[in-house]
Amino acid sequence: MDAWEAVKHTDTIVPDIDELMQVTITKGNVYSYSPRTNEIVLGESMDSCDYVFHFKPIISFREMPNLGSFIINVTEQCNLRCSYCCYSGIYENTRIHGNKSIDKDDVPDLLGFIENNARKYPVNISFYGGEPLLKYDLLQSIILQSEQRWGDDVSFYVATNGVMLDEQRIDWLVDHNVMIAISIDGTAAFHDRFRRIQQGEGSFGKANAALSYLKRRYPEYRKEKVLVLTTVTSFDDLAPLAESWHRDPVLYDIAPLLFLLWHQILKKV
Ligand code: SF4
Repeated sequence: MDAWEAVKHTDTIVPDIDELMQVTITKGNVYSYSPRTNEIVLGESMDSCDYVFHFKPIISFREMPNLGSFIINVTEQCNLRCSYCCYSGIYENTRIHGNKSIDKDDVPDLLGFIENNARKYPVNISFYGGEPLLKYDLLQSIILQSEQRWGDDVSFYVATNGVMLDEQRIDWLVDHNVMIAISIDGTAAFHDRFRRIQQGEGSFGKANAALSYLKRRYPEYRKEKVLVLTTVTSFDDLAPLAESWHRDPVLYDIAPLLFLLWHQILKKV
């Protein structure tokens, strides 16, 4: 069941403006929530919005019978500035890269929240960002405390750009059975067009070195627990990308999870 659905403003009951709670988020967008109709609108009032997000009645964590997967946005910071990034500022109504991160003092509350609301075990904890490995110590601490709490009844996943995934960190993550998703958009010619560090240099070398080490040192683990996420921004890239992929000494036998970035494809960026 979807948690929400978009319906036209005209299909809804219009509440009094006094009962709307307003929330201002990154980039100054204002959202309004009506407790009576259980709806969220973009804008300062029901009169100025085009769409309403209408929440179906039972949306409480405790009432979700299969809740077993939790995503922790460890930090809003990132060491890359990929040009198509959803936090790059080119999309409307989204936050941009920021400095907020989870603090180590928040971890007991965070794990308590998971414990109180998990309904399905083993519970899965995923780490996202920004770049979660910028907060590697915190990530380690969450994993260690989770293992103490749940033993084998917890699994982990980290989505990373691979730049800070050095051999020592890979060894530790493998030791703790963490599933690793690395974003690699193809060989350097494809990857470095968009996935660059803040100073402008491409990030392919480091991401590919991490994948190469995983293949050499942990071949079975690589097959079972490492995903390669590849973003494609143009249909025209698909054939040359596949050709160069199969010629690359690290990538050639890896099947990536492809993401087609429709926004970019349609704009032909
Ligand atoms: S690594 Fe991810 S979060 Fe960082 S800039 Fe690239 S797409 Fe954005």
